[in-house]
Amino acid sequence: MMTKKFRVFATCDIGDALNLLRSRGYELEVHGEQEAPPKSLILEKVRAGLDGLITTLRDPIDAEVFEAGKGRLKVVAQLAVGFDNINRADANRYKIPFTNTADVLTEATAEFAFFMMGDLARRLWSAEHLTRENKWGFWHPYLPFLGDEVTGKTIAIIGTGRIGQAMIKKSTGFDMNILCYDPGYENHDYVRRIQEIKDLRFKLGIVRDKMWIRYTSFEEALVGADFVSVHVPLIRPGESDTPTLHLFNEQTLRRMKPTAYLVNTSRGPVIEEAALAKALREGWIAGAALDVYEKEPLPADSPLRDPAIEDHCRLYPHFASAAKITRLSSDPERGMAGRCVQGLLDVLEGNYGGDVTKMPYVVNKEAFAK
Ligand code: NAD
Repeated sequence: MMTKKFRVFATCDIGDALNLLRSRGYELEVHGEQEAPPKSLILEKVRAGLDGLITTLRDPIDAEVFEAGKGRLKVVAQLAVGFDNINRADANRYKIPFTNTADVLTEATAEFAFFMMGDLARRLWSAEHLTRENKWGFWHPYLPFLGDEVTGKTIAIIGTGRIGQAMIKKSTGFDMNILCYDPGYENHDYVRRIQEIKDLRFKLGIVRDKMWIRYTSFEEALVGADFVSVHVPLIRPGESDTPTLHLFNEQTLRRMKPTAYLVNTSRGPVIEEAALAKALREGWIAGAALDVYEKEPLPADSPLRDPAIEDHCRLYPHFASAAKITRLSSDPERGMAGRCVQGLLDVLEGNYGGDVTKMPYVVNKEAFAK
């Protein structure tokens, strides 16, 4: 049991996993509202004296917050794998470790991206509307519309990290050819093993055609794919040599096939939405399915809501990791909540001999390298 009483503020309720902190005698305050607390409230809580802060992607965490916690704040534990709301350079300057919940949401996010792709291409949303609105008057070979098959097509995976690789695995099950692009991390061993699976399926007569996977350039991925699925972090210019802010813009969208579909479960600002809305209106591409937006929640006047593009623009409310076990399991090997709490606890209780660089869920280890 704990001897020291740590004070923690959670900017939203992350469920039963928080009971672990309560049972260890932590003084825990949870923001009870459904909406994010204003930054002023976070600052107020931190200033009043906190050892740990549990955050979500809704909370801007920067120098102002770290300054408010100077001398006391020891860790920020984020309930997400993406951490673009946390200013890493500021965290490093103040030497505050922050944690994320990588891996436990990988499969859930990839399967959601895959389902979004199927929904978009096979026009599930429009088809259900026909039935519900009593517009299904006849069966006809091609009226009122047809969709495009996913099976056997070529998919481009933009970003071959954890979720990109999971998407590769799922696409392999649908006999897809796969173009991979990632300027920072090419996992050739993984790609070779996926090719072996594809070859075996062909050899065993499970698939009719020989399928392939390979790394390529961004240009070739855009030009060659029937589906483009985005799995990159949001990286702003100056944060890396390969920023992802507006990676999809008027110029790059125009490189895609007019029959191709774009799927984004990464971060909204990776796509320039005004350009995408134009691309959908003018038919530069066949459709898009989005889970994330430049501004969330999606504003009422967003051009993406244009009824003229409704049938080929699927819009979801940042839902890719929104599955029960993925979000809420208290088990750090299965759930984001469990992993988030464990990351906080590791730092506050000095697990791993107090060596932050050895703690598996700490992101900014570089600030603590000896
Ligand atoms: P990851 O770090 O394992 O993989 C990201 C990959 O993108 C890395 O391999 C990196 O080298 C690559 N990359 C960086 N810049 C690139 C560029 N310019 N072009 C192409 N590739 C580039 O991360 P992950 O666990 O796979 O998660 C990816 C992102 O997905 C997260 O950062 C998060 O923003 C987002 N995400 C969204 C949801 C959701 O609910 N919609 C859920 C989980 C994750």
